[in-house]
Amino acid sequence: MTDTHDIAKNRILVVDDDAMLIAEYLRCLGEGYEPDSAATTLTELEKVLFGEETDESGAARFSVDTRDQGEPAVEAIHEAIRARDPYAIVFLDIRMPPGIDGIEAAKRIRALDPDVNIVIVTGSMSAEFDKLDTEVPPADKIFFFKKPFHAAECRQLAAALCGKWHADMTLRRVNEELEQRVEERTAALQKLAYFDPVTRLPNHLMLLNELQAMIDKAEDAPGDSVVVLLDIDRFSFINETMGYDAGTELLRSIGNRLSRTLCEERKPSRAVIGRFGADEFAVLMRGVENDIAIRDLAENVQDIVEEPFLIDGRDIFLKASIGVAWHPVHGRDAKLIFRSAEAALHRSMRSLDHAVTYYHSEMRYRARHKFAMEAEFRSAIDNGQIKAFYQPQQSVETGKIAGIEALARWIRADGTVVPPCDFIPLSEQMGISDLVFETVLADVCSDIAEWRVQHDWKIPVSVNLSAHQLRNADLIGLVKRILMSSKVDRKLINLELTETALLEDLTTARPILNDLSAFGVGIHIDDFGTGYSSLSYLAELPVTTLKIDRSFVGKLVDSESNTRVVQAIIALGKVMGLDIVAEGVESDQQYAIVRKLGCDLVQGYFVAKPMPADQFRRWCDGHEDTQSLKLASSVVDIDRART
Ligand code: C2E
Ligand code: MG
Ligand code: MG
Repeated sequence: MTDTHDIAKNRILVVDDDAMLIAEYLRCLGEGYEPDSAATTLTELEKVLFGEETDESGAARFSVDTRDQGEPAVEAIHEAIRARDPYAIVFLDIRMPPGIDGIEAAKRIRALDPDVNIVIVTGSMSAEFDKLDTEVPPADKIFFFKKPFHAAECRQLAAALCGKWHADMTLRRVNEELEQRVEERTAALQKLAYFDPVTRLPNHLMLLNELQAMIDKAEDAPGDSVVVLLDIDRFSFINETMGYDAGTELLRSIGNRLSRTLCEERKPSRAVIGRFGADEFAVLMRGVENDIAIRDLAENVQDIVEEPFLIDGRDIFLKASIGVAWHPVHGRDAKLIFRSAEAALHRSMRSLDHAVTYYHSEMRYRARHKFAMEAEFRSAIDNGQIKAFYQPQQSVETGKIAGIEALARWIRADGTVVPPCDFIPLSEQMGISDLVFETVLADVCSDIAEWRVQHDWKIPVSVNLSAHQLRNADLIGLVKRILMSSKVDRKLINLELTETALLEDLTTARPILNDLSAFGVGIHIDDFGTGYSSLSYLAELPVTTLKIDRSFVGKLVDSESNTRVVQAIIALGKVMGLDIVAEGVESDQQYAIVRKLGCDLVQGYFVAKPMPADQFRRWCDGHEDTQSLKLASSVVDIDRART
């Protein structure tokens, strides 16, 4: 047996128990082979097939190994595969006593090497070979070769099969490369489809899959699978004031901190953190033992997010609204649990303190009833059931009524009164807040016109705008149309919007407010102090009045620190030339304090509750300062406030 590894390519294994025949193979396939005249055309063919793998004469170079039995041949093939240096051809003698025959050896070789060309060398062709290509597939890699053979014949066959083997290998490599590229691309696309590119955390889709996987495995592990959804309050304001890059960095920091604290430090492999939406994150936790552990988790998430973040050298303090739902209590599948957590989150977002809300079945009941409520609300608008109630604002200086706030009410057919907190959010979700505004403003204009005719009153009335309306570029058109058609003096109309609504999208709101102010209506900031409480943006906006939120006014008597905050707001507001209204004044003590602090106007149950138009008119008639209503325009110098 010899191994002649001069050339690593064109590897051929010859297997024959006849030493004479092995010598013949080596002679015709070896390097020293001298082609006779009959074989000269062969070198031409080899040149074409092998190019550089030929010697000076152009003859192909083969590297031939030999074995005298089938089993060692199978071992040689195995070794070559392991060494990543496979054979192109194996010549197999059909009979090699005492070992396995050529066909058995061929089967074992094929099992190891799917590419090698197997040539069965036989003295006589018999029927047993008929099905060989199905027994040792594939058919294009198994051949017969009849002995005795001419040297040129053997060399020709070796050259042709080596050429074929190289072509097969090239094709396989190209295919493998192609497959690999397809795999890489698929993985990249999957990453795009399942991961958020900014935070590199699982996205909405992936979170659903992860939760479903937790649920599927729930039977093997005790405890609940919990979803904690959190929404960063006023994220768009941060984006807008600090820039998009800072916003992106903040999102990454939130994701990192949640992952670090919840996945790495505390509950490895039990938690999944993902980005659920623009400024929403989700924490999934499996195996949570009981309700107390669920509450601890939600509060922990809240604490993590509310610790300050250092962005661009500044400490950013965030508030998060949180919604929680869990398997198996709130649903059997991932979608339902996420939907429940979202419902809870929206409840938190609507609440004033943006706290943690745990899903409960009443919310689902409410969701079902929302449809019925929507239909009813639409017909309420059509049937004129949305009315303005009026609440007076009293001047601290003169005690006269110097302003009025219009507050929407839904008067049902049976006379019950629905408060705005029950239908204003609904109208926003339905996308019809403009219609509600239009209805209320038209009602207000018709009442102002009537008061003017009957009593010669000229008191400015404030109408509330909702956040959604600041996205309506035609808000100015709507206001103009209603005021023009009712012929109401535009200076008698103020529009109130909350600080939070304004800051949600300052860029869009700014030109709309400028247009409204230029047209002549006043802009009031409502519920001041509950939002970002930054006075700096006010300087750039055409604001005339600040309304201090009633939560501050309510605490004035008991809390000194609260009083200082109100004092600071009033002082700054004054510097900016703004009028200050104290909302929700309920007692004479509160009245005395806001008066001392320098508020201009007082609104609250202490003066009067909101009333329907006819009752308001009667209240004014009975009010000791009835006459002052006529003088009101001189109490608040509207023109000064507008300039
Ligand atoms: P707001 O604009 O801050 O209105 C003041 C709210 O405080 C009113 O509640 C009023 O009834 C209440 N209030 C006034 N004085 C006192 C007091 O002394 N004590 C207490 N506890 N409450 C007092 P209301 O009428 O339920 O309105 C709630 C909110 O609904 C309003 O807050 C406003 O944001 C919104 N809203 C009302 N009408 C409309 C409307 O036509 N359009 C829009 N978009 N929102 C409206
Ligand atoms: Mg208001
Ligand atoms: Mg208010």
